[in-house]
Amino acid sequence: MAVPRNRTSNSRKNTRRSHHAKKPKNTVSCVNCQAFRIPHTICESCGFYHTRAVKTAAATVAE
Ligand SMILES: [Zn+2]
Repeated sequence: MAVPRNRTSNSRKNTRRSHHAKKPKNTVSCVNCQAFRIPHTICESCGFYHTRAVKTAAATVAE
């Protein structure tokens, strides 16, 4: 197993981790109800996908 020859400094460690921040999820608005949704997914609030009703609204499904 490889063993590191030198200790990684705090500066070098933090510079490496500067790219690790979590990015916010991309959202688009639904064409039917204008609610925010994740792209290429069914709208959770009205059940539409690309101008078609794929499933009934989330409130009725939960019942
Ligand atoms: Zn919708």
